[in-house]
Amino acid sequence: MASQDERRERFRAVPKAEIHLHLEGSIAIDTLLRIVQRRGPLAGGAEAARQRLAGLYRHRDFPDFLSNFRELCSLLRSPEDFALATTALCDQLAADGVRYAEVLCSPQIFARLSGLPPAEVLAAISAEARSRAAAGGPRLRFLLDGVRQFGVGGLEELVDIATEARRFDVIGIGVGGDESAMPTAAFAPVYREARRRGLRATVHAGEFVGPRSVWEALEILEAERIGHGVRAHEDAVLVRALARARVPLECCPTSNIRTGVVSDWRSHPLRALHDAGVEVTVNSDDPAMFGSTVAEEWEVLVERLGFSEREALEIGVRTVRASFMPDQDKLALVGEMRLAATRAGIA
Ligand SMILES: [Zn+2]
Repeated sequence: MASQDERRERFRAVPKAEIHLHLEGSIAIDTLLRIVQRRGPLAGGAEAARQRLAGLYRHRDFPDFLSNFRELCSLLRSPEDFALATTALCDQLAADGVRYAEVLCSPQIFARLSGLPPAEVLAAISAEARSRAAAGGPRLRFLLDGVRQFGVGGLEELVDIATEARRFDVIGIGVGGDESAMPTAAFAPVYREARRRGLRATVHAGEFVGPRSVWEALEILEAERIGHGVRAHEDAVLVRALARARVPLECCPTSNIRTGVVSDWRSHPLRALHDAGVEVTVNSDDPAMFGSTVAEEWEVLVERLGFSEREALEIGVRTVRASFMPDQDKLALVGEMRLAATRAGIA
């Protein structure tokens, strides 16, 4: 029986990909303090500021998490703030053994909160990410995440921003935010247009609200992947449809527990969805806000959700296959994963 620390080290040693990861939610309190400090002295000193900010990392429930997310976003006010956040994310991913990540970012939030032009935010992020990749760091590509509460018009605007931002390694769009604010189906024409423009498409669904949003994501939006989607398990017909369609779910188990979407580990449906043939993948979502990394999510699979280490590896491999990387890059990364897993004794 492997000790927890040994297992974490072995999981870190395997190259990994992550396909559901929010840049904003990856900002740890130390980085956030540095960002805030750059603008001038902190009221009451650094320790008092740290205590104030610590509240943003504790969530009573899903609405409370969304409010913390928005509050954290309100502290990001210049392209340099995003460059700092990107550096810290690349460091965290490298330490965790992540080689490739599709990173969600919501530039419209900053345009609305601080008047920051999306192109300036995305230019800063992609410049930093490219320079880290050139120095041997993880390769990042970006999905722009729309905010459901901004409505159909907001998503149309986002598709235009994404189309213009291909030079910044933006490859597609998603929709997040308050799932109860608007039905998923309302975005169908915008998703059609995004597809027409060659943008890849995912959508948060079946996280805070029930199976209906997953049905709409699958049948009406024709999303290529579904963010979370765990509440699909409440509908057996939907589970069969997801398995048949082979539309991957971007599962983020620790996130579900921390937001209260799933009440406890015993009730987490990931194992049941996997056993029913649904293409589950594993991701950290908002690593700093939920206190988890992908390697730690692999541990969760083994220690909380009843998978073997070998099965955790296969879910990691599936995460690579579900990514929007070119096929030859997927093959290369999967080859490296298997080699490293053999060396690490994951069997
Ligand atoms: Zn998310």
